[in-house]
Amino acid sequence: MQALMMNTQLMISSILKHGERNYPTQEIVSVTADNPRHRYTYKDFATRSRQLANALANLGAKFGDRIGTMAWNDYRHMELYYGISGSGMVCHMINPKLFPEQINYIINHAEDRFLFVDVLVVPLLEALKDHISKVEGIVVLTSKEMMPETSLPSVHCYEELISKESDEFSWPDFDENTASSMCYTSGTTGNPKGVVYSHRSTLLHAYAGSLPDITNASCHETCMPIVPMFHVNAWGVPYAGIMVGSKLVLPGPKMADGETLQDLIASENVTFSSGVPTIWMALLDYLDQSGKSVDSLKVVTTGGAACPRGIIERFKQKHGAMVMQGWGMTEMSPLGTFFSLKPGMQDYTEEQVTELQCKQGRAVFGVDIKIVDEDNNELPWDGVAFGALKVRGPWIATGYYGLSQEPGSDDCPVDSDGWLNTGDVAVITPEGYMQITDRTKDVIKTGGEWVSSIDIENAAASHADIAEAAAIGRYHPKWTERPLLIVVMQPGKTLSSEEIIAYMSESLHKWSVPDDVVFVDELPHTATGKLNKLALREKFKDYQFPGVA
Ligand code: ADP
Repeated sequence: MQALMMNTQLMISSILKHGERNYPTQEIVSVTADNPRHRYTYKDFATRSRQLANALANLGAKFGDRIGTMAWNDYRHMELYYGISGSGMVCHMINPKLFPEQINYIINHAEDRFLFVDVLVVPLLEALKDHISKVEGIVVLTSKEMMPETSLPSVHCYEELISKESDEFSWPDFDENTASSMCYTSGTTGNPKGVVYSHRSTLLHAYAGSLPDITNASCHETCMPIVPMFHVNAWGVPYAGIMVGSKLVLPGPKMADGETLQDLIASENVTFSSGVPTIWMALLDYLDQSGKSVDSLKVVTTGGAACPRGIIERFKQKHGAMVMQGWGMTEMSPLGTFFSLKPGMQDYTEEQVTELQCKQGRAVFGVDIKIVDEDNNELPWDGVAFGALKVRGPWIATGYYGLSQEPGSDDCPVDSDGWLNTGDVAVITPEGYMQITDRTKDVIKTGGEWVSSIDIENAAASHADIAEAAAIGRYHPKWTERPLLIVVMQPGKTLSSEEIIAYMSESLHKWSVPDDVVFVDELPHTATGKLNKLALREKFKDYQFPGVA
């Protein structure tokens, strides 16, 4: 029997229409390269998004075309999110901080017809211009007065372009499974891979992310997404925030600047903010140095990398803000798990709560998670067993753009049972709290045991004199692999290998304690700030443990 319900398609444009109608005076405040504090309303936002839609049509952009953006978090990027996707085109967010050869590859692979770029990105594109000749036009996101001199061909000024256009535009309705946006993941190996989101996946993700035990998004909150809009849709805030009518504060290119962040939080009354741990570290350090506060801030969400305990404790003890850790991936839109307490935990001590905040959270409704052993047998949620983490759900990728969608094939991240292989290794407690212990490729296999490189790194980094540490497995004739620790010391501090090993023996299992420690001036990182273990394994490929033939 068929249901008798309207089959209304889930459209990104419907978020904009709802936001404009219900919260016309709600504000969006932005920092841009041409204005330290721009503010306008949802009504202005919707009006200009319609002008943009007309401008795109007049440029000749068609349904399904990829339109690239290289921009920070600000109101013009918001207009692009809605104007492009709402027109049935694909908003392709490109991370301007990737290596130029990766950007070049991504633009060509996606076959972007037009690029909308921040003024700050113009020099980068000038250097790439001979490689991206298929791009038909470049629109610089600024006003006529602030347009830079440039050697780029076919350049337009965003404000001039949209000011000529009518603000009447009827957003088209089409199949909700149509591509709405795309983001390339920048793995440490091979070429970047394109993840393609749909209108349906984006809306379901926005609903799920807003639930009370997830972010509790609301028109009563002021939300500042610091995670970039070129990185997995700023974790969905540009959609969920408008859906519920939050005031949005967008920090533009000043994302890692503690002073700007504090000023925005205090003067705009930001209650909720999302970012990666390095951003929070920069803000907390600035607050310590300046003695300033962030009294309005109630909730800080973090993800992208494990959140150091110090960040959770400093926010709680000094600033009265609760850190909520989430875990996800570009392939997951990105939300997978998120922190919240469960009934029966009201009486937990502060220490017990902090312990839970250090984990990656519980599965969000809509995302099934499981851990499996090397033979793909499901492992129990007992807080002990750890294995490869797999996920499935309606906002999780089936494959990558232009690569095989055949489950189980080499280029496809989905296995033949329909679960996406996350590449993470995790343990899950009986209460459902998941903890990432490693990346599959980074696990150190020693004498039949799996040792978490992250545990080793955390144990080392908890020493006040150690600035950063990385653990990799190196060949050992008896144990197959043993952990090698690579350390960057704090400026002016010295420790011997023996001292570090003795310190780590206090907190680690015997088999996890590294056999040797080497010192370097800096560790390699990927363009998105993650430790580049591949480069480290390459650098230390001929390394031999002392006294081992
Ligand atoms: P993002 O950095 O936005 O999470 P990526 O797709 O670039 O998205 O990276 C996803 C990977 O980042 C995950 O597979 C996992 O290894 C790591 N990651 C994400 N969130 C966390 C977290 N809270 N703790 C530990 N690792 C995380």
